[in-house]
Amino acid sequence: MSRNDQTILIVEDEPSLIFTLRDTLENEGYTTLVAEDGNKALQILDETIPDLMILDVMLPGMSGFDVCKSIREKKLLFPIIILTARDQEIDKVTGLNIGADDYITKPFGVKELLARIQARLRRNLDYHKNRTDTLHLGDVVIDLGHSVVQRPDGESIDLTTREVELLRFLSGFPNEPVTRKALLEHVWRYEQSTSTRTVDVHISKLRSKIELQPDEPRYLVTMHGVGYMLKMKDHR
Ligand code: CA
Repeated sequence: MSRNDQTILIVEDEPSLIFTLRDTLENEGYTTLVAEDGNKALQILDETIPDLMILDVMLPGMSGFDVCKSIREKKLLFPIIILTARDQEIDKVTGLNIGADDYITKPFGVKELLARIQARLRRNLDYHKNRTDTLHLGDVVIDLGHSVVQRPDGESIDLTTREVELLRFLSGFPNEPVTRKALLEHVWRYEQSTSTRTVDVHISKLRSKIELQPDEPRYLVTMHGVGYMLKMKDHR
């Protein structure tokens, strides 16, 4: 069994570097997945979500930047470390602007890479901890810390852990559409026997708790063909 139970997706086309990365990471107890180009990387992401991705910029076909952009557009938030060639300062700036978390310049030492990976994985955990505890949806107040919904008529309704996680994730993107797939990634972590239908069922249950008229939701709305959106009026 792997020591740390974390999966790293390597997106790189250079065989010798793939070999080195795999060898190094697996020795450290990480599970690795490899994609030689951007399309393959996106295919892998349809099936599974890694804890971190190492992404080369210069790839055949789709560039590493486009891969990164496309991942962030899907609201997939695992850390991405970009590999750039020496002296590509412009690339570093571009990379951070399109949602990469860090970059490392080739050639790099194995120890440096491992340190960056560990730092990113730690920070990602911190990010999940650092979140708001009260949501105001009109006159409905949701206390996420205590998993309870206070409705304007005075009624309070308990939320399940899953419902709290759903709300936490959706409220991280107020007034923005979030795909079912992103919800599966973050709220269910792709547990066995989950499907986008699972998401729909939970959303429907959640609506009955937080919406005054669940059949005509005002806050947790469906974005047809995309997923869901949490409308938060006061959010700037
Ligand atoms: Ca390359």
